[in-house]
Formats: sequence, C-alpha cells, structure tokens
Amino acid sequence: MERARRLAYRGIVKRLVNDAKRHRNPDTPHLVVPHAPARYVSSLSPFVSTHRSVNPTSAAAFGRHQQTRSISVDALKPGDTFPRRHNSATPDEQSYMAKFCGYDHIDSLVDATVPKSIRLGSMKFSKFDDGLTESQMIQHMVDLASKNKVFKSFIGMGYYNTHVPTVIIRNILENPAWYTQYTPYQAEISQGRLESLLNFQTVITDLTGLPMSNASLLDEGTAAAEAMAMCNNIQKGKKKTFVIASNCHPQTIDICKTRAGGFELNLVTADLKDVDYSSGDVCGVLVQYPGTEGEVLDYAEFVKNAHAHGVKVVMATDLLALTVLKPPGELGADIVVGSAQRFGVPMGYGGPHAAFLATSQEYKRMMPGRIIGVSVDSSGKPALRMAMQTREQHIRRDKATSNICTAQALLANMAAMYAVYHGPAGLKSIAQRVHGLAGAFSLGLKKLGVAEVQELPFFDTVKIKCSDAHAIADAATKSEINLRVVDSNTITASFDETTTLDDVDKLFKVFASGKPVPFTAESLAPEVQNAIPSSLTRETPYLTHPIFNMYHTEHELLRYIHKLQNKDLSLCHSMIPLGSCTMKLNATTEMMPVSWPSFTDIHPFAPVEQAQGYQEMFQNLGDLLCTVTGFDSISFQPNAGASGEYAGLMVIRAYHMSRGDHHRNVCIIPVSAHGTNPASAAMCGMKIITVGTDAKGNINVEEVKKAAEDNKDKLAALMVTYPSTHGVYEEGIDEICNIIHENGGQVYMDGANMNAQVGLTSPGFIGADVCHLNLHKTFCIPHGGGGPGMGPIGVKKHLAPFLPSHPVISTGGIPQPENTEPMGTIAAAPWGSALILPISYSYIAMMGSGGLTDASKIAILNANYMAKRLEKHYPVLFRGANGTVAHEFIIDLRGFKNTAGLEAEDVAKRLMDYGFHAPTMSFPVSGTLMIEPTESESKVYILICKSLTDSFFSQCINLMDK
Ligand SMILES: *Cc1c(COP(=O)(O)O)cnc(C)c1O
Repeated sequence: MERARRLAYRGIVKRLVNDAKRHRNPDTPHLVVPHAPARYVSSLSPFVSTHRSVNPTSAAAFGRHQQTRSISVDALKPGDTFPRRHNSATPDEQSYMAKFCGYDHIDSLVDATVPKSIRLGSMKFSKFDDGLTESQMIQHMVDLASKNKVFKSFIGMGYYNTHVPTVIIRNILENPAWYTQYTPYQAEISQGRLESLLNFQTVITDLTGLPMSNASLLDEGTAAAEAMAMCNNIQKGKKKTFVIASNCHPQTIDICKTRAGGFELNLVTADLKDVDYSSGDVCGVLVQYPGTEGEVLDYAEFVKNAHAHGVKVVMATDLLALTVLKPPGELGADIVVGSAQRFGVPMGYGGPHAAFLATSQEYKRMMPGRIIGVSVDSSGKPALRMAMQTREQHIRRDKATSNICTAQALLANMAAMYAVYHGPAGLKSIAQRVHGLAGAFSLGLKKLGVAEVQELPFFDTVKIKCSDAHAIADAATKSEINLRVVDSNTITASFDETTTLDDVDKLFKVFASGKPVPFTAESLAPEVQNAIPSSLTRETPYLTHPIFNMYHTEHELLRYIHKLQNKDLSLCHSMIPLGSCTMKLNATTEMMPVSWPSFTDIHPFAPVEQAQGYQEMFQNLGDLLCTVTGFDSISFQPNAGASGEYAGLMVIRAYHMSRGDHHRNVCIIPVSAHGTNPASAAMCGMKIITVGTDAKGNINVEEVKKAAEDNKDKLAALMVTYPSTHGVYEEGIDEICNIIHENGGQVYMDGANMNAQVGLTSPGFIGADVCHLNLHKTFCIPHGGGGPGMGPIGVKKHLAPFLPSHPVISTGGIPQPENTEPMGTIAAAPWGSALILPISYSYIAMMGSGGLTDASKIAILNANYMAKRLEKHYPVLFRGANGTVAHEFIIDLRGFKNTAGLEAEDVAKRLMDYGFHAPTMSFPVSGTLMIEPTESESKVYILICKSLTDSFFSQCINLMDK
C-alpha cells in the first residue's frame, strides 16, 4: 500500500512537470509553481522562479525601448501598481484559458455568461477610479491616520485600552499563517487554531465559573441578545417578557430591544430594585457585573429570587474583573456573556473583538456559535474538532439556535494567547494594578473635595457626582483625556492596563480645576484600600491547566504560536477553493494599517472629532460601495454576513411597519439558500416559505410567482443569492424581482457571491432593495480562521431612513420621516468592526473600477477553465444558458458512491494529504464539491489542483480496489 502510494506520487510529479512544460508560455518565462507538498519541490524546481511576475507596463515599455532607444511615458509611471498582484492571470494566460473554454477572448466568455438584461455598461468611481499604487495607498492611509487623534480613554463601557503583546501582534495579528485560514471545518488541517480556540473556551469557563463556552461571538451586545434568545428557548417561548437591569451598557440594552422585536418578546428595562416577576411571564433577566457605572454588587440574593420565580439569570461581565471577583457561576448565573477585548485585542474604534457566552451543561445544545470539543483521531489519540454542529444554521436552518456563522476566531486566538502569555498570576497582577489606580483616583478625589465619589464597591470604574460634568469633560479633552459623561452631574472614569500613575495625576489636575493638588497618585498608594468586599473576592483558582503556566517568556510563546501555526493549512500554503467563501488574496498593503496605533487605539465612543481619519474613510468607502452595489446608502454596523442579513430584513420590517403594513411577515427563500438566510428571517419573526429549484438549478419562477401571489397581502421579502448558490447566473432574476415588487414585497439579495457581480452587474441594477456584503469574502478581509468578518448592508433610497442607529454615538443617518421607527441597533459599536475596514477600502482604492471589473472577469474565467479541465472526469452539476459557470461550480461525486464506494468526504480528505484544502463539501447539494478558485489563483496553480484532483482521485479508486 505504502509503495503503491509512493509510485502514485511519482507518477503525478512526472505528469505535473509535463503539464507545466506543455503550458509554459514563451511570453511569460517566469512561470511559477506555487506551493506543492515539500517532496515535489526538488523535481519541480527548474520551473520555480524567484521573480513572481513581470510588470506588464514596464516590460512592454522595455521592449519598445530596445527598438526605438527612447523612453516611453508609460515606463516612467509608478511601477508598483496593484491589480496585477491581485488578479493572477496575465493577458496571455487569459486568452489561453478563454480559448481552452471555447471563446476567443475573456470578454466573449463573460458576455456569454452574464445575462445581457442585467449587464452594466461600465462602473465608474468618483474617487480612485484609476486605482492607487501600493505606495500611494500607504501614503493615503498615513494621511488618514494623521487625522485620527488618540486621546487617553477613560470611557470604559465595555472597551478598554490594553497592551497587546508585540509578540502577538507580529506573530498572530500580522501573520497570514494565522489570519488567512477558513473556519476549521477540516479538523485534520486545523489542529493549531482549534487548540488555541479551546484555550479561549478554557479562559472563559475558568473565569466565569460555568462549564460550557463557545469559541466567540460577535460582540458583547449581540452576545447578550443571544442569551436573551436562549432564555426564550429554555422557556419554550411560553414566557414572553425579558427584563434588563438599567445598570447594563446602553448599547447592550438597545441591541436587546431591537432583537426582542423579532421574537415578539416584551422587553422591560428596570432599576435593579424595581425588577418585578409577579406577572409570571418573565423568561429571563440580564444584569451587569460590574455595572456600567462601575458598581460591584452581590447578586447572590437577586439570583435566588429570580430562580424562585422560574426566571433565568444572564450576567454580562468583564474578564479582567473576574480574576479578582467571585465568578458569576458561583453567584448562580445561568448564562454569562461579555467581551474578551481587554485581553490583548486593540479597541480599533469598535472592533473586531471576541465576545463570549458561557452556560451550564444543561443548556449546551441551545448555545449559539461554534464550540470546539476534544475527540480522538483514527489512531485513538486526542484530537480537536468543532462539536455539536447540529445546532447550527447549516443544518437546522430556521430552527437553528442562532443565525451566527462567521464569528471572531482570530480575536479569540489573540485573547487566548494573551492569557497563555500572562498566566493566572500575571492576569491577576494586571487586575490588581488597574484596581489600585482606580482606588488611588477615588481616594485623591475625596481628598480634593471637589466632587462626590460613589461609595459602592468598584473594580476599575469610579463614578463621580459633580456640578458640571460637561465642563470637567471639556477640561479633560484639553489634556487629551476622554471621560464618560453619564449625565450633566455624573462622570465615570474607567482604568485599564495602559493607565499610569502619571495619568491619574493628570486627572487630579483636571478635577481640581486650577486648584493646587497637594499629593501625587504615587504618594497616595499606601493609603489605598481594596474596594472589593471579602464576600465578593474570588477564591477559586483559574487557568490551572499547564498551557497557561508554561509559556511566559517571549521565546516560549513565540515557539508555541509557531508550533500551532505549523499544524494548520492557510493561504500561505495553498489555495483554499471553498465555493461561496471567496478565499482570495488578502494583500499585505491592505493589512498594514490594521496594526497602526492611530487606528487601533481609538475608543468607539470617543468624540467623532477625534476620529476624522476614520470618518473620512467611512465616507469614501461608503461611496465606493454604493457605486459597486448600485445602492444609495450603506450601514457599516453589522459584523458578519449573517448579521447583515438580519439587519437588512429588520430594515425591510421597519419599512413595512412605517407604511402600516404590520402584517407583512412572509419571507420567500429558495431551498438552495445558505442556512443563515432562513435562520435570520426566523429571528425577524418572519414566516418562511421555501421554494424549489428546477433541474438546471435555477429558482423555480412559477413557484416564486405562486408563493408571492398566494401571500400578496402578507409578503414581506424574498431572499435570494445571485449568482445562485449553484454557481449560475439565473436568467430570470429581474423577472423574479418584479414579481416580488408587484406583490408588495422587498427583495433582499445575499451578497456572498458579489465577487461575480462587481463591475459586471449590481444588486441595485438587478432590482434588489437591500443586500449585505461579506467584506471578508469579496472585499479581502481575511477570514481569520472563522472570523472576523464585516457584513455592511446597502439599501435603496426608500429604505435609508431605517438603517441601524446607535444609542451612544449618532451614526449620522438620514433624518427619520414622521411617524416612523428606526429599526434599532444591530451591533455594540456604531460602525461595527471599524479597524478592518481599511482592508476593503485599500482593496477597492488600489484596484480602481477597472481592476475590480477584471477581478470579476478573471474569477469567472478561472472557474470556467477549471470546470472545463475537470468536466471529463466529473459531471459539472449546473451551468448557465450558454453552458458556462459563474465564479464557482459544483462537481458531482455522488456517482462514485456506487462505482467505488467513495464519498465527497473521501476526496476532501485525500486532497488534504497532498497539501490542498478541500472545496466546499455538500453545500448547497449533498454529495458534491463546490469549487471557487477566485481571481487571485494562478493558472498553473489551478492546473496542479486539477491534476491532483483527477489523478490522485483515480489513484485513490485504484488503491481502494486493491
Ligand atoms: C458566507 C455566507 C453567508 C454568511 O456569512 P457570514 O459572514 O459567515 O455570517 C451567507 N450566505 C452565503 C451564501 C454565504 O456564502
């Protein structure tokens, strides 16, 4: 068997070499063979060039130079253009591949593929239309960065400055071997990040004192909303009131309010002392520990009382505080949520950060999000994998516990590594230091006698009553300090890992308003008392596992990070051809600003004047995305595709309500839709009607028509993915949009396949009213091993007034027409995960409209070329009217089950043996593989992938036969 396998390898290597030779084009001598398993490299090395590619501009100019001996203007233009780095196929390769597919030119292939009725003439940007070069882009981002002002933040409210260990910045945040992976569905090539995510879960379960945790949620506010939904489910939807204590962060309260609407929950906000369960209708209550204004309360009696009334208790909490406070699990909480941001993840003007949700064993099947579990591999050794996936929307669709898909894996990994690096003692000393500084501040203010300091126990946040809060905050601003103004007589100051004694002295000066300060924070130290009562002091040890106690030097952590990274397959190693996921290049220039302090260190609720660089970027990026989508307004609030779906549907819901159409609640969704679609619609309280597809994979227009007409008085929306999840540009899409509109509904387009639309058509042009964009697919935000993502939504003008708002910082939307309700708040931060927007922004600005349109064309070309090469061996399941596929295609492996006893999974695993990531398996059709090469993969690479698939697969069958 081993020998047979070795021979098979050798055969393939020979064939690869021959293939490569055959297709080696004399015009492109710098043929590159991308990653191949190490054992192939020596035999392939004659073809490996150190030059990645030639600049076509200067190469052409060079040719002319030789003939005429004069220098062309082109030759003097900047050489660091970007599109040729992103779009892999050179003009020669494009024409080779087009011809192979039976077309004389890439444009004729694209013309035959995208239906004429929806084809755009062209796309033009008002800014960056020609595309910036890489160095111009960096300079532009430097300019924007200089317009952001980093003030010292004491705002708190769930966001704290933190010292991100530089070893983690460089080796995780800035390391493509950590940030380019996909979600760990293929456990064999994901053991590294699975281990790190398990570490994250351990941090959460240890600190909260509850036994089950997921591997991250989008942010603290949405985690609280997920917990609310769990309470509703635990009580089987029979108790329809949820209570939120007024000591929760305002953004948390608003997100829950918005979410409650879809579940038809009655949401009550009340002071802790006024919480009342006498109606018997309360499913759960949310409290915060420590509270938003800093108070640390003993909830033991509160929890007992809630439980006595059959009410579940959700506690929002703070991980750093829990290193010194009694854990919520010991106070009896049923569900605990919060953010891991201050564990070494920068504030980034709002995100991305990893939130968490922990609960008891009893409710584990109701938990949202991914959960990593310990299992055993085929040789009986412990191995990790995602667990209990049957809860997720991929399988349960509208019955799923939540619509969450992409979460915050990369940030969870950063937080986990922060805990690994500091260990339990290190974390505790950070917490004690923060607590001590807050204590010194509180004591100093009392001595100054200028304000009244709240006497309740606190951890890191001091609440101050004063005569003019705004005057003090203004004075602080002059010293580049941001305080939180709660109301005109109340200020809070939150301390964090980065606060120094010097900062506390500065605060004394601000509060003394010109009076001399007769002491320093340092001189007060001996008098500072621990403000946490012994009844609430943590006694239970945490992070006792060896992982948290052995990597405390930089060398050790560096090696641990690399040890894990080496177990995983990322885009550093090979193509990840996951259909629907668009795993394209995440370019370095796009990534650079993400770790610049003038982007990382801004609090999301800092005054907008201090974030003018960010604001200018939002404006520009919004305009660019409006052009790309054909829409009029964009909201950047949703933090993932599924969150965008929910936001978009809630916008539609608010629109119908504003017109008195409260009864419009039917949502039509094709059977081929991604699981998040029905899950999101269910969260909006919509009734889902599923429509089928025909034999060609197209939506059954007759069925849509019937469903729309039968429900014309109740129709809210259609959710549709375009090109379809079957990888086909359906001809009837404009007709489908018309049918929905004629029957009073709105069209929601799932933008996951935007990579096949940019510059060629657009959701707005096709006739949709809303769509979300997965910026982590089409627009180059790396997938992070399962997140972060960004799911902004674009809308037509009539829906713009309903876009998400925010209770703390106005997102500056369109004025609300009379008698209308805005749809509410979707995420904890006003502009979602603002820190990663520079990635998509740089991509679009460097590509320009032409580069982006080429990207779509080349994505289509690459997919068609690959389909053509594979079609002799595998049936290509669906094709468009002219026999071509879109930017992705499905190969059908179901036949092999009978002939060889092989399933799609066997092929997926076999590809892994050769260093390739499997394509998307069994979505949207079970027993198939969906392949999406994207525009960033080279022709040679596609060829190798193809050779491996068919040769090794047939070898596989041979081996099985023996
Ligand atoms: C990826 C995807 C989604 C979900 O997006 P997330 O960012 O993972 O929430 C929805 N629909 C389709 C078709 C997708 O491919």
